[in-house]
Amino acid sequence: MSIRDDLYVPFARPDTGEDEVAAVREVILGGWLTTSQRCREFEQAFAERVGARHAVALNSCTAALHLALEAVGVERGDLVVTTAYTFAATAEVIRYFDAVPVLVDVDPDTFNLDPVALEDVVGRLAAGDRSALPPAVRDRVEAKTPRAVIPVHIAGAACQLDRIYKLAAASGMAVVEDAAHAFPAAYRSRPIGSITDPNVASAVCFSFYATKTITTGEGGMLVTDSPEIAARARQMSLHGLTHDAWGRYGKNAAWRYDIDGPGFKYNMTDIAAAIGLVQLDRAEAMTDRRRAIASRYNEAFADVPGLETPLVPDDVCPSWHLYMLRVSPSPNGTCRDHFVDQLVRRGVGTSVHFIPLHLHSYYQRTLGYAPDDLPHATAEFEREISLPIYSAMTDDEVDHVCDAVLDVATRFAA
Ligand SMILES: *Cc1c(COP(=O)(O)O)cnc(C)c1O
Repeated sequence: MSIRDDLYVPFARPDTGEDEVAAVREVILGGWLTTSQRCREFEQAFAERVGARHAVALNSCTAALHLALEAVGVERGDLVVTTAYTFAATAEVIRYFDAVPVLVDVDPDTFNLDPVALEDVVGRLAAGDRSALPPAVRDRVEAKTPRAVIPVHIAGAACQLDRIYKLAAASGMAVVEDAAHAFPAAYRSRPIGSITDPNVASAVCFSFYATKTITTGEGGMLVTDSPEIAARARQMSLHGLTHDAWGRYGKNAAWRYDIDGPGFKYNMTDIAAAIGLVQLDRAEAMTDRRRAIASRYNEAFADVPGLETPLVPDDVCPSWHLYMLRVSPSPNGTCRDHFVDQLVRRGVGTSVHFIPLHLHSYYQRTLGYAPDDLPHATAEFEREISLPIYSAMTDDEVDHVCDAVLDVATRFAA
């Protein structure tokens, strides 16, 4: 097979253009740059799109996760359960409270939090079994029901939310969904962002980082059906003040405000929200394009020895933020790293999602996990490789990725 040598396909490229420029220009010339009307419009449009009652526009998904944990009452010494297989943001926000992350292994088929392992760990913690705690804290932290669980919808393919919410309702945990990859996505025909349980405090956090499915450069959104969680997150996003800046400086300005708590500076700007509104309008078309690319990859790589295409359960409709391919170690002992290297040589940028948290020095030092404590996360990470999948990819670029992967896989297996 001959591989084109005049193409380099980067791993990610944002899909933004003149419409976004025009929207930003209007805001800049309008004389009000930060949180105001555009943010309100973006919040309303986004809440409607994902089927949530309330939305709070923020400057990142990390901020949304932090505020969500604050709003559901996470405090120092609490336990918060999450998956080992995620990005830094998911667990660092737990540490912001000096709370203790308890890492759970993944379902090797989907890379998502394994609900059986989750039920087991939560049950043991609730029963006071310290062996369910991270190894390094067993002698000084009490085993108790975790305050919250943070499921992460990896690649925008939903976790088994019905089971997670059921467990949360039964045990009194809050649910904070890390939906950084999951707009727009659905679980059992319900959009991610719309799933709630009347007996569970919950919020869902989305990311508009430059490489995510829709972008505002940097940005995030917290959605919830709870008016209390929404109000608390909004207030704490702006220093804990009882009025936002619009309330303080707008036409009906009241100069008086109260500081209700030591808040943060997490509000979104109107410049970002203007970009977000345009991206939201284009989200369906961009998702269709990613879906088409995923189908093309699935077809091209099906039945190729050494390659495993992503496994998507029947009741999950992913956003296809990532295309997580798996490669088997080859008979001659070469591995995923070699595969990555060979793809770069053929002009294809890739990434690896993710280096699981328990393999990073900070979490090894503070929580004491060893690679074998979360064996599926460790094993699947070793063979994962994320291919380019974004709406701005041309057909030529998609073809080029297919050719390059097939070429490497063929030589790899030899
Ligand atoms: C990108 C990402 C985040 C953080 O999003 P930001 O908007 O950059 O703060 C959180 N969790 C996961 C899984 C992510 O991939």
